[in-house]
Amino acid sequence: MRVAVVGAGTMGRDIALNLAAFGIQTILKDTNPAALDEARTTIRQNLRLYKMTNPAYKAVSKDDLDSLIQYTVNYDDFSNLDWVIENVPEEWALKEQVYKELAEVCSKETAFGVNTSCISITKVAALMPQPGNVIGMHFMNPVPMKPAVETVKGFHTSDDTISRAKALLKAMGKKMILVNDFPGFVANRLSHLFMNEAAFLVQDQVADPVSIDAVFKEGYGHAMGPLETADLIGLDTVVSSLKVLYDSYQDPKFRCCPLLQKMVDAGLLGKKSGRGFYQY
Ligand code: NAD
Repeated sequence: MRVAVVGAGTMGRDIALNLAAFGIQTILKDTNPAALDEARTTIRQNLRLYKMTNPAYKAVSKDDLDSLIQYTVNYDDFSNLDWVIENVPEEWALKEQVYKELAEVCSKETAFGVNTSCISITKVAALMPQPGNVIGMHFMNPVPMKPAVETVKGFHTSDDTISRAKALLKAMGKKMILVNDFPGFVANRLSHLFMNEAAFLVQDQVADPVSIDAVFKEGYGHAMGPLETADLIGLDTVVSSLKVLYDSYQDPKFRCCPLLQKMVDAGLLGKKSGRGFYQY
């Protein structure tokens, strides 16, 4: 099986590592050479971390990763792929451009896994000559530690693509949870309401982030609180996703908390920038 991962950021690099850890030959493509250099370094570092938490990673070495992952800024080897898993930022204009390029360079047998928080899979598929080959693959962060992938059937997604997606995810050690296409699907339509309202609680000085997260963890038994989760995802990504949800449903329940937007404007993006609701 030959797979390309497009976008080597938070999600793309972990997905490439997950594929390689299960022996799958992977191309990791980004437009930014610095992102690829950083990805190579973090993939090697993360292997050590994930070996401690996921037994499936124990058999892989750093040298194996170097031979299984090909880092590139071009589409040279995209003509005979089984799968592309796309992970560019959550902005429609960027995704639109990337799928137009993929439509030019990929064969009609290639299937496309759209990793998006909220964007409609049906809308992405409409950009492609074979819309039946497009399916949503909403991986959870951090990918190697999450056993399931919310998989999204677009309007035209074929049964064959669903079967192929199930086989690909199984080969990556993941379970497929199949849902239908509406912006935000299940996970983010729910979780962004939690994260946004938690930001309103901070803004309204009802409680501090530690207390808000403690209610979720120690009260409800969740593994993480909504503000820790927002910091992990990236506050910029959370704001972009809320905008997509708001635009898609035209429902005020998805209006972005002004404090979240202010934090993003100030460069407080969460874990990836060193500061968000917490300091890292
Ligand atoms: P990110 O900003 O960390 O990384 C995006 C990468 O894409 C960057 O390395 C950037 O250089 C690259 N890129 C930009 N334009 C490109 C192009 N034209 N071609 C190739 N690469 C390009 O973003 P992320 O957090 O990894 O999110 C990627 C997608 O996954 C988004 O749609 C997001 O909503 C979704 N997602 C994110 C999370 C999360 O926790 N961060 C979880 C699930 C899904």
